[in-house]
Amino acid sequence: MTVSDADAARALADGRLVILPTETVYGLAADAGNAVAVAAIFEAKGRPRFNPLIAHVADAVQAEAVAVFDAQARALAEAFWPGPLTIVAPLRDRDRVCDLARAGLDSVAVRVPGHARARAIIAAFGRPVVAPSANRSGRPSPTTFADAVEETGTFAGVLIDGGDCAVGVESTVVSVLDGRVSLLRPGSVTREEIEAVVGPLARFGQGDGEGHRSPGRMALHYAPDAPVRIEAEAARPGEILLGFGPGVGDPRWSLSAAGDLREAAANLFRRLREADRERPTGIAVSPIPPHGLGEAINDRLRRAAGFVG
Ligand code: AMP
Ligand code: MG
Repeated sequence: MTVSDADAARALADGRLVILPTETVYGLAADAGNAVAVAAIFEAKGRPRFNPLIAHVADAVQAEAVAVFDAQARALAEAFWPGPLTIVAPLRDRDRVCDLARAGLDSVAVRVPGHARARAIIAAFGRPVVAPSANRSGRPSPTTFADAVEETGTFAGVLIDGGDCAVGVESTVVSVLDGRVSLLRPGSVTREEIEAVVGPLARFGQGDGEGHRSPGRMALHYAPDAPVRIEAEAARPGEILLGFGPGVGDPRWSLSAAGDLREAAANLFRRLREADRERPTGIAVSPIPPHGLGEAINDRLRRAAGFVG
């Protein structure tokens, strides 16, 4: 049965949860202003309540209705929206994004998703929608409809199949507070691309106030059941090797045989989940270059392996 944008918008207005495709990963979505619906998301995911959610909006005008943007925030929105950049800025409207969604902070994280269906549903709904990754907390994010359904489908009143996620890793999160831009979470918009717009990013920890921290960045996260071993040169007995680059490991399990970071990001969570289904003794992953999108891929892999990033 196909579900229209209006059906999905009605479900959100009724306080129900929606499996929502975005270009990064599949989200479990709810009305950001409805504390009961937002509580149901934390419950479904098993997500700790100190980890705030991102308010997804249809355009920059909706973003500025909930957040206060300075010139740098506007420049970033202009450069990267719609797309996988989340901007944390001072809160303007505490009702449209409820306290629970913000984990009580007086800043708010906003983004305009690049996925046309997500934007159409949010526009039909008319208010911000929180949409954390549709996985149970700590597990790899779903990047296919089937994976999203498997993770949290039973909690959703409406499920939207938007195909495979093109990007495959979560949005980049920056804070723009007190005139400074800090990178809180690497993602598919790279550090280099952001610095081309706003100049050098503040180094994390350099006199940064509370607002420039990301409360939800746990050490063990994005993890399959099998132990993950990173920077691996070859598979050990019983392990599956996710290779990167030509001739590395079994091509079936390669993140990108061509050594392409965009392809590796798109394949990352899907391969981790597929490898896990084979019940290996472990999942080994080839070294991934640190630059560009490699920063986000390495961040997720270090967390999947249980190292703090
Ligand atoms: P997720 O919804 O799982 O993609 O995670 C959202 C990310 O945004 C987490 O890393 C949060 O800690 C971060 N985040 C959301 N709101 C804020 C905020 N107001 N201040 C700092 N980080 C935030
Ligand atoms: Mg997540």
